[in-house]
Amino acid sequence: MAKEDLLSLTIEEIEAIVEKVGEKKYRGKQIFQWVQKGIKDFESMTNISNTLKQALHEYSFITNVEIEKKVISQIDGTRKYLFLLEDGNIIEGVLMQYKHGVTACISCQVGCQMGCSFCASTVGGLVRNLRAGEMIDQILLMQQDFGERISNIVIMGSGEPLHNYSEVINFLKIVNNENGLNIGNRHITLSTCGLVPEIKKLAELQIPINLAISLHAPSDEIRQKMMPIAKKYSLTDLINACAYYLKKNNRRITFEYALVKDINDKEIHAQQLSQLLKGLLCHVNLIPINMVDETQYKKSTQEKIKRFQSVLMKQGIEATIRREMGADIDAACGQLRNNYINNT
Ligand code: SF4
Repeated sequence: MAKEDLLSLTIEEIEAIVEKVGEKKYRGKQIFQWVQKGIKDFESMTNISNTLKQALHEYSFITNVEIEKKVISQIDGTRKYLFLLEDGNIIEGVLMQYKHGVTACISCQVGCQMGCSFCASTVGGLVRNLRAGEMIDQILLMQQDFGERISNIVIMGSGEPLHNYSEVINFLKIVNNENGLNIGNRHITLSTCGLVPEIKKLAELQIPINLAISLHAPSDEIRQKMMPIAKKYSLTDLINACAYYLKKNNRRITFEYALVKDINDKEIHAQQLSQLLKGLLCHVNLIPINMVDETQYKKSTQEKIKRFQSVLMKQGIEATIRREMGADIDAACGQLRNNYINNT
């Protein structure tokens, strides 16, 4: 029987293991509390019997991710981490401090298969999915390193969360549990490039997290040039899936729109976008694109970004311009990891 990663399991799943080895069910909750505190060895679990510790050794292990490198922005204190997984793979995470709390941006896959043309994470393709425990451990490590409670999570680092659907759902259940990190669903944002069937599946679960869609284009034609997924699902399909999510969860949808010079940043594009989103409870996050060496894209001017925003606002679409965080530390998705891998 393959050993189970305790950090990737819900209380109920740990209880099942505990009962299988003849122990009382409530021990499962105690073990969950230990592993979710970041305890990595069974010996430190002081309220667990030696017999149970032995059984745990036999049937389970605890994920142990390590911080490989940390870079702190001199501009705004944003921290970018490279994490070393037990199989030698490298992923990245970002910690940002805002007025309303500390936000951790985590990865859900090693690399990514989605091929978005502006993204460094996809350059080497998908290596593998992360387990829920490897996502939890990124948060535990950043929290421990920063010394303050992480209050918000965005699943927006490398990887497409809905392409690692079942582990991401496990992660959401675990991270929300009051015996663990206890992060409220409303403080969690899942960002997807738009896998339509999985958005609908997620909607059915009615977990009230925030859904963010990497939209980046106002028409199928432009989107298909930027994001291969757009060849599979049209904007009409995507917007319908968002409307369904909204109906099931009553949560406002965020659309991420990275402005790229001369590609998607003209006034006509803002008008098309307004038409597309009309009547949908949503918010547009305009992102001055981070320069990535691997792409040919250039940043829009501040003036153009402001004009784009005002066209949207005039049409009744709420839009904000995202503050650039960690511009001095390769904060664009996948950038630090690629630079690290290429230079080691
Ligand atoms: S933007 Fe997200 S979905 Fe697209 S390639 Fe990058 S990590 Fe993957």
